[in-house]
Amino acid sequence: MTTPYRGSCLCGAIRFEVDEFLPESAHCHCSMCRKFHGAEYATYASIKEPHFRWTAGEDALQSYVAENGTTRQFCRHCGSSLTFSSPRASSDEVEIALATVDDDVPIRPNAHIFLNYAANWTVIDDELQCFGEGRRKDVQ
Ligand SMILES: [Zn+2]
Ligand SMILES: [Zn+2]
Repeated sequence: MTTPYRGSCLCGAIRFEVDEFLPESAHCHCSMCRKFHGAEYATYASIKEPHFRWTAGEDALQSYVAENGTTRQFCRHCGSSLTFSSPRASSDEVEIALATVDDDVPIRPNAHIFLNYAANWTVIDDELQCFGEGRRKDVQ
């Protein structure tokens, strides 16, 4: 297994490294993640700030700030979704779109979150924990 874990956007302009992932990772079904990724859900992993760094192309990062104050960074050349941050989350953590990591990672997504907003064609066929809202506001 390689350390650090290397990641990049689709066009390769932006590259980053992760020394260590926090154990919790989730598939987010909220409508914003679905739109931004053009997918059934987005999978994010959390990293403590000192364990994350951009190694190339930081100038190609663009931010989209949504009405609810959340910020999503993406590559302005290829559109790849890279990071997510919420003003309500702890400020020393970075959330990254796990699928942009190129190396094998030691963590596995362990929950589906914001299922109250899932597309009606979503099929959950795994054993992961399910949350209607965020992980810490379980409505089940
Ligand atoms: Zn790119
Ligand atoms: Zn989401």
